[in-house]
Amino acid sequence: MIVLVVNCGSSSLKYQLVNMDNEEVMAKGLVEKITLPDARLTHKWNGRKKEIVQPIPDHKVAVKLVLDLLTDPEAGVIKSMKEIDAVGHRVVHGGEEFASSTLITDEVMKALERCSAFAPLHNPPNIIGIKACRAIMPEVPQVGVFDTSFHQTMPPEAYMYGLPYELYKEDGIRRYGFHGTSHRYVADRIAEVMGVKKEDLRIISCHLGNGSSLAAIKGGRSIDTTMGFTPLAGMLMGTRCGDIDPAIVCTVMDKHNLSAQEMDTLMNKKSGVLGISGVSSDFRDLGEAAAAGNERARLALDMFHYQVRKLIGALAAAMGGVDVITFTAGVGENGIEDRVAICEGLEYMGAELDAERNNVRGKDALISTDDSACKVYVIPTNEEIMIARDTKDIVSR
Ligand code: AMP
Repeated sequence: MIVLVVNCGSSSLKYQLVNMDNEEVMAKGLVEKITLPDARLTHKWNGRKKEIVQPIPDHKVAVKLVLDLLTDPEAGVIKSMKEIDAVGHRVVHGGEEFASSTLITDEVMKALERCSAFAPLHNPPNIIGIKACRAIMPEVPQVGVFDTSFHQTMPPEAYMYGLPYELYKEDGIRRYGFHGTSHRYVADRIAEVMGVKKEDLRIISCHLGNGSSLAAIKGGRSIDTTMGFTPLAGMLMGTRCGDIDPAIVCTVMDKHNLSAQEMDTLMNKKSGVLGISGVSSDFRDLGEAAAAGNERARLALDMFHYQVRKLIGALAAAMGGVDVITFTAGVGENGIEDRVAICEGLEYMGAELDAERNNVRGKDALISTDDSACKVYVIPTNEEIMIARDTKDIVSR
């Protein structure tokens, strides 16, 4: 079975064509700057790469271009579109409507539109991508895989906020959590790597990238996570402020005469390690600046490491202990010094890094000492393969 995995952003489209007989990635690529005259498609296959720069007015044209390339006599890996058995789409927000991945029907499309209210920046481009694929490949089943669905197993005491109950009932204001597909991949993979059943593990999964979140996964189920109603909550991130005293919002809006939109932009785009350092949202840039003596870059990194460590403690408490801590995504997989700084002082929960083992990037690896009661691992995430697996499962039923 051949599955096309599609991840649409507002001006981008990432894709992978996966042969599900052996989970081999046949081709993958990225379309950027959709709607602009100098849109770019980068297509990779068989160790080769092709770039196309041309105007791409919308996502439908982008999907058409990707399909043309996948079936191209030179750059293609399949003879015809008919070889694609199913399409799996990443969808950011499934609200409470989707506790698992789902076959997309007209009913589901309506539910997705309803969920857009929760993720006005992310869901609409996801929906546009689904519509484009349905229009071009009407015979091919389409599946939606949600960032939120893995966290639907959280108990109410973890997902409710201390606000009037009506706001939950009427407006759906609650913690949803994100990065669920990544956390779910890591939970499956760590059990495989450790050779144990995931039902027997208490995992703290640290997805640390531009956006960061932790998940407490007990017996294979998410029981709590650091992101909330939106992906703004938790530790400070590249440009997002993370958890702050909610009263700050009104105070700053009043003092600086900001609209809700402006305050939202301040917290999502101008804060985090970028806002603190004034240097960059990129952790590599911050590491360099801090090493060169930039104190605000040092402070931003110190805050990030401290907040991650503190949240690990909170999630360990939520599970009554932890068997394994995993690091994934850009910073988690590559930030050797970041992992050292985060794990400093976690010895009380039995987690102790081995300096030599920790000197690793981007591959599955045990990085704790043999004596460490709580194991620590690097597990590179693979959200695309989870989407492809779910898609295969659903269309095979
Ligand atoms: P992601 O959102 O998962 O793509 O992660 C992006 C973040 O990972 C950026 O802040 C990068 O600077 C960071 N990153 C990538 N490589 C490294 C590295 N070698 N050391 C520290 N951070 C890294």
